[in-house]
Amino acid sequence: MNILIMGPAGSGKGTMSSKIVEAYDIPHISTGDMFRAAIKEGTELGMTAKKYMDEGLLVPDEITIAMIRERLAQPDCQKGYLMDGYPRTLNQAHVFEEIAAELKKPVEAVLNLTVDFEELANRVTGRRLCKNCGAIYHITNFPPKQEGICDHCGALLVQRSDDTVEQLRVRLDEHHKNTEPVLAYYAAQGLVKEVNASRTIEEVWADIRAILEDLQ
Ligand code: AMP
Repeated sequence: MNILIMGPAGSGKGTMSSKIVEAYDIPHISTGDMFRAAIKEGTELGMTAKKYMDEGLLVPDEITIAMIRERLAQPDCQKGYLMDGYPRTLNQAHVFEEIAAELKKPVEAVLNLTVDFEELANRVTGRRLCKNCGAIYHITNFPPKQEGICDHCGALLVQRSDDTVEQLRVRLDEHHKNTEPVLAYYAAQGLVKEVNASRTIEEVWADIRAILEDLQ
């Protein structure tokens, strides 16, 4: 099963990706995660990527595409892939079509997770993180047992400085600007599956599951 997942921060892409990986046994390939891992390892690729990421810019296509080409050729992609955060530009989408054709792994569906603004604002402004272990909570949807304290390690919970409505607008604008051409490209091929991700995890997962079962 060869699929792409798209959606803004806060759309539940991470949660749905873990469920897809578990249910269909395909690797979750996130270019953002791959760059972060390379930075942690201190590789040349990581050092180059960091310069762009620190500026909030996209890493140049030739670097990103080479990394994806290598990743897709790994044996764990035999069964397919769940691509997250890639393609992010039209050029990446065009080249990806060639790579996927060469490897006989053409994209079968593009899951587009959409969330209405009020819901996204509620998710983002209510989000709390553990300062120590990084565990994520939500003041109403997923509260800790004791207010402001992490269930796992007892450390204080904090709010990310960019988890504000103003920052959310900026991030969403940026997301739409980047992804719209890519989505239009796949929509023209009839591959885009819209998923209303404003609902509960169970409801969203049921929709995604139905879409993916249809593909099989
Ligand atoms: P993410 O975790 O997906 O938000 O990605 C974090 C950062 O990694 C982005 O802001 C970019 O700098 C870089 N990045 C991730 N995916 C790509 C991509 N497909 N093309 C270019 N840069 C990317």
